[in-house]
Amino acid sequence: MKPYIALSFLGSHRLLEYFYLKGFINNSNQIEEYLFSEIHVKDPYKPDYVYKNVMQDFIQDKSIGRCTIDSFKELSKMLEFRGERVYVKNESFERWQEIVHSVSPLQIISYLIYDQCNQSYRTDVEILINSIFDKSALPSIFDPQLDQMMARDGLNEMHMHLNGTTEADFVWQDALAEPSKFYTHFRESFGNTYVTDQYLQLGNFEQDDFFRLLIIARQLRDKIIGIVFDNDELKVDESFTKDGYDLGKSLNYASSIHPLKNMNLDVNFQDSWQYEALFFIRSFHYLESEQSIYFANVFYYYLLIYAFFQKMLVQQKSQVGFDQFQKITLNQIRELTEEKYQNRYRQLHGMYDNSLCVLEGRFAPKDNLVKSFKLLKSIRDGYVKNREVRKSFKLILVPHFVKTLDTRNPKNIITFRDLALRIKTKRTLIVLLDTMKHSDYKDLIVGFDAAANELHASPEAFAPTFRKLRFLGYSNFTYHAGEDFIHIISGLRMVYEAVEFLDMRSGNRIGHATALGIDPKLWINRLYESKLTLKKGEWLDNLIFSYELMQNDGKFYGHLGKLQGDIFKYFQEIYNYQKPLNIHQIIESWKARKYDPIIALKWREPSIFEEFDSQELEDFNHLDISIQELYELYHAGECIERYNKMIQIEPDQAPFTEEVLRDLQNIMIQHVNDKNIALETLPTSNVRISYYKRYDEHHLWRWLGIQNYNEGDPKPTVVVGSDDTGIFMTNLRNEYAHIYQTLNKYEDQKTALDTVEQLNRNSKAFTFHL
Ligand SMILES: [Zn+2]
Repeated sequence: MKPYIALSFLGSHRLLEYFYLKGFINNSNQIEEYLFSEIHVKDPYKPDYVYKNVMQDFIQDKSIGRCTIDSFKELSKMLEFRGERVYVKNESFERWQEIVHSVSPLQIISYLIYDQCNQSYRTDVEILINSIFDKSALPSIFDPQLDQMMARDGLNEMHMHLNGTTEADFVWQDALAEPSKFYTHFRESFGNTYVTDQYLQLGNFEQDDFFRLLIIARQLRDKIIGIVFDNDELKVDESFTKDGYDLGKSLNYASSIHPLKNMNLDVNFQDSWQYEALFFIRSFHYLESEQSIYFANVFYYYLLIYAFFQKMLVQQKSQVGFDQFQKITLNQIRELTEEKYQNRYRQLHGMYDNSLCVLEGRFAPKDNLVKSFKLLKSIRDGYVKNREVRKSFKLILVPHFVKTLDTRNPKNIITFRDLALRIKTKRTLIVLLDTMKHSDYKDLIVGFDAAANELHASPEAFAPTFRKLRFLGYSNFTYHAGEDFIHIISGLRMVYEAVEFLDMRSGNRIGHATALGIDPKLWINRLYESKLTLKKGEWLDNLIFSYELMQNDGKFYGHLGKLQGDIFKYFQEIYNYQKPLNIHQIIESWKARKYDPIIALKWREPSIFEEFDSQELEDFNHLDISIQELYELYHAGECIERYNKMIQIEPDQAPFTEEVLRDLQNIMIQHVNDKNIALETLPTSNVRISYYKRYDEHHLWRWLGIQNYNEGDPKPTVVVGSDDTGIFMTNLRNEYAHIYQTLNKYEDQKTALDTVEQLNRNSKAFTFHL
């Protein structure tokens, strides 16, 4: 409970609002009141005394300065020193992962350094900062065997997006150093309703306030530096509230790296975040030794703004689902930092020795040749021009086409579904292929993917692109599927459609595929008895798909009649098809969605894919005429309108009991196994975005046959990735550490180590090669 209070204190949004609107606080009772009200809103189903008693112990009659020190002391208990390195204690690792979502790890580690040096047996602050804050601010657990395995084999990163990588502590430094440049990117998020949502979820601030707070943070830091490093007198009349701060005020301490850089401090650091660590260490010292209420307010206010900034960049525990994730990717706060690529590669090794051996970096390709070359040059230069990075791991790239929503009113659709997306993807493909002709990128781009919100576009919209690529001789494909879904069957179907419509084969991979692993019982429980609202057409597609999976297995015979009845009912309601049809024709018409409507529905123009297009048309024309007619209806506006009508269903609507859902998952696992397709697992990303609350609930343990597994069930081939290291505050080393640590709950140490080694071997085998 104490760490939770410490966390709430250091990241309090309500107290930040108070400081911003009203000014400083001199009374710890006020802190207690505000903090309690905030905690109560987050967790209203507990009696007051559960939190109040601990809070009284923690806060009552203490100054802000004391509360700040005590909070850091509490959180730093999760860490330990080993020589000049800092590690997370084994038993605290999972909790730590949650803490660093709203409090900066750089701050907590800085406190630990301060505390150690304060206890006088260490005075080597400069050495410690240089040693600890070398590549990353994210510590890990210490395990000699795991370390040895990583040093010996090196890790292959199988799924990581290059954007969304940078740790929040680095982004903060850039934003404070160059606020005007930051603003030019940041303002692009104004008016984006997703982003507005993200602000409103946290409190009453809007984008304008966020930027003002950033300017205030610069001034607060300037003030603190004056007091702590330059013996400034404590002038207590300055205001830092929304209405009181001076927007145009020039700072006393300025440097393009960090304001401490030019202060003749007798220390030498390379990077701004190392100076920031020194700034915190010395501020902790001042806070504790001088006991100035004014200083404590200034410093605490700075911490609160920092925490707000971090929360906007990192997926919080309370942010479930891909929609929430997408808000972070759209708020433009990382843009300035991530304009260039060089700084983010080193961080990927984690805090200690180099652990990464191959990085398969994903990026969104451009649909304009100039922009495409500019992007690729920046990605490549950042790698090639840094000798240390270049020597430490191999970089390969996988462009991911981006799923976007068809926003047209179905009434206005006279062409076909996903018109804009299909045209954009086609254009992007042509630009990408041209870019890849350049010798710098020919060997760098090794495979293809499609990513972003799965609820916005289905595999069918990308099927022609991937099949064209195969036609041209490319064979390395992966596809984000079954990660976020309204119903498990929708997620399973996305994986099936990706495999079948894109013509995936041996050596290919599926990203996430959570639907193939999540325990249906856990999924139903986490829906907390709510019904599911989804499109009638989506549910019909799920029924058709289920029928396809179930029809050849005798154990489902009892269910087929009911399924068929529902299929015909919904099918007629949506398509109103007058000719007689049987279930197999309906299934075939669903499978025909892999064809490109640009070609099948005769919107084709001459293109560089002439040969493929002609073949596609010939194949489509060979389909039964009723299938062709149904294909046309599927793309027709009036049918889309009826398809989109919302219906409500129970998660375990008959015949889809937990047991049947599990069977369908196993059929799909067998299906990908038969094709020798691997599943990419991204533990922290799933624990944040999906229905899980803890690592031991993750589906990986079922896939490995360790937990929630029934004898004889198929096990998929699994490879490991970290997805978005900055947004999830992780790196590949830490993903393996989480896996290893959870395995240790179920297996002896040797077996656990064998299992992680096997995962890394799978990853090496399935890494894309030309
Ligand atoms: Zn991803």
